Amino acid sequence: MLPASITNYAARVYIDLRSFIPIVYARFGRTKQRSYAEVADNDPTWGIHYCPTTAYYGCQANDIIKTNYTRVFSTLAPQDGLFVSLHEFGHGYQYYAVEPWATGSNGCSDESHGWTETENIGCAMVEGFADFIAMLGAGTVIVTSPYGGDHGLENNLDASGQATNPPAAGDGVRVEAAVAAFLYDMVDGESEPDGPTNQPGPSEQFDSLSASAGWLLDIMKYCRLNGQPLQLSGPDQLVYCIEGSTSAYSVASTYSAAWRSYTSVSYKQSLPSYSQSLIRKLWKYNMYGVQ
Ligand SMILES: [Zn+2]
Repeated sequence: MLPASITNYAARVYIDLRSFIPIVYARFGRTKQRSYAEVADNDPTWGIHYCPTTAYYGCQANDIIKTNYTRVFSTLAPQDGLFVSLHEFGHGYQYYAVEPWATGSNGCSDESHGWTETENIGCAMVEGFADFIAMLGAGTVIVTSPYGGDHGLENNLDASGQATNPPAAGDGVRVEAAVAAFLYDMVDGESEPDGPTNQPGPSEQFDSLSASAGWLLDIMKYCRLNGQPLQLSGPDQLVYCIEGSTSAYSVASTYSAAWRSYTSVSYKQSLPSYSQSLIRKLWKYNMYGVQ
């Protein structure tokens, strides 16, 4: 029998997920069969994490959010527990509703990761996607913290006002905050309520794009590079898939050696496309601060 305080933590996670998962489903037009959360009291090393397998740090089942409860009612920042719960749901959403994301050597360097840390590109991809889901889904509540909230994401600043596109001496394609900001700019519009009091704006002159969030998921699911199906293992692949071209490599490789080169992009099924030049402005700015 768990002490009452722990059932309170479990209730908090349940309420957070029940409140915001429907918003994610509505925004992206895609559901996921189940969302489980397990609250444990025997794993003080970990805050809240997603279990891709049963072998992952004491997980009892896969596709589950496990928490040792310390971050659920966090004193780190307002809404920190909500952000992390929804971030972990975002991993499950990608894995089961979009594509089974790449793991193993493409994961984070030491099984932990930071908002502005320059990591492996696979880590930046899956963590940035989960951050994007959390900030878009709960943006009306996660306003300025943690990490600057959706306001900070839109304006490429973290909670301390430092640039995330990229952070000093960082490489944007390997930084989860920069990747999340790129995804966010792909789908936000002029009326997105991402100001510090949930008002729209400010508008960004380089961002003239407002793509369908569901389309973005279709791109991730159906894209092929060099004719091969793939689980996206880096934001470089994501950019080629979104642009519908591998030509970004010649530009990106002037900023970073992490980008990989491919010869062709195709899709398993026909999908709409958006302006390549507008997309290019978005990743160049969000990953490298270049306008
Ligand atoms: Zn994560």
